[in-house]
Amino acid sequence: MTGSTIQNPTDTLDRPLRDLRISVTDRCNFRCGYCMPREIFGKGYQFLRQDQLLSFEEITRLVRLFAGFGVRKLRLTGGEPLLRREITSLIEMLAGVDGIDDIAMTTNASLLTRERTQALLDAGLGRLNISLDALDPAVHARINEVDTPLDAVLDGIDNALGEGFSSVKINMVVQKGINEGEIIPMVERFRHSGAILRFIEFMDVGNHNQWSLDQVFTANEIIRLIDARYPVEPVEANYHGEVARRWRFRDGGGEVGVISSISQPFCRDCSRARLSAIGELYTCLFATAGHDFRDLLRSGASDAQIAQRIDSLWRARDDRYSEERLQGLGRPRQKGGSVKVEMSYIGG
Ligand code: SAM
Ligand code: SF4
Ligand code: SF4
Repeated sequence: MTGSTIQNPTDTLDRPLRDLRISVTDRCNFRCGYCMPREIFGKGYQFLRQDQLLSFEEITRLVRLFAGFGVRKLRLTGGEPLLRREITSLIEMLAGVDGIDDIAMTTNASLLTRERTQALLDAGLGRLNISLDALDPAVHARINEVDTPLDAVLDGIDNALGEGFSSVKINMVVQKGINEGEIIPMVERFRHSGAILRFIEFMDVGNHNQWSLDQVFTANEIIRLIDARYPVEPVEANYHGEVARRWRFRDGGGEVGVISSISQPFCRDCSRARLSAIGELYTCLFATAGHDFRDLLRSGASDAQIAQRIDSLWRARDDRYSEERLQGLGRPRQKGGSVKVEMSYIGG
């Protein structure tokens, strides 16, 4: 039995498996307070060793099996995916997998030189999402807690826009009291730029970012603020399950998106699985436990055995953490009641 002979499963809430996010490293050259705060991820923090990471061959084998279950879209993330050596080789290998028709990457863009950008495109990367939370260098430095100049990120964005990617999106996490003042400058910079700016509500991922509901600048607040300066109107979703709600500038200046996982969760359409850098499968961003595939891979399991495991895990999936959080009237609950996985470990 191979993955392709198993009928594509749906989970207990009738959701298919369509997207796979793959974390290729737990390391990062930034220390964003909402993701890898320096107090925890600073000196002395034990990052994974190279031999603990899935190899490119192991990732590709899993992707081939996932494609047999209906996965069409891949996103490479981390940590910072551009820190993984030879990442373009992985992209080439994944681009050759039958059924995979879309490979994207989420990056902080600080390492996105012109040569690197060209190599990623040539290898088969189709889309880039770049994280940028502020244009004011002082605010940027305060959020990312590194000395990397803002210009390195802005150059990376320019390089991405100069290549032929099918889409370049800029992701801005908005934290109340920290960077809501950057929303309008970001809108002004990226209107008419060819990049789509997307605002992400600050989420209670991981265990160290001191999240509280009153730090969330909500989707409605974001859109109200933008609309007062640059009037916008809603746009239909591109496809079923699109996580960002889309808004178009009435004057033809392009569009923005808002990812409102806190105030308007979208678990009902969530068709994403996540693979950690050490080969654990997570069926929700807020899960407390992953399911190990590295041992299976390294203990000589057959494709059929691995496919069976994917099938049974997806069929048993009942995750809807963000909806449950909302129903709890803002009191965050942790699925399973213990420590959640870190965002840098399984990727955004
Ligand atoms: N290092 C890459 C980057 O920053 O683009 C990829 C990994 S990062 C974990 C993926 C995405 O998660 C980024 O867009 C980041 O802004 C987002 N993210 C991390 N922590 C978050 C949080 N607490 N709330 C909302 N988004 C978060
Ligand atoms: Fe690094 Fe991305 Fe996390 Fe920032 S959000 S610390 S850039 S992994
Ligand atoms: Fe999907 Fe979990 Fe996020 Fe809901 S909370 S949208 S199930 S990842």
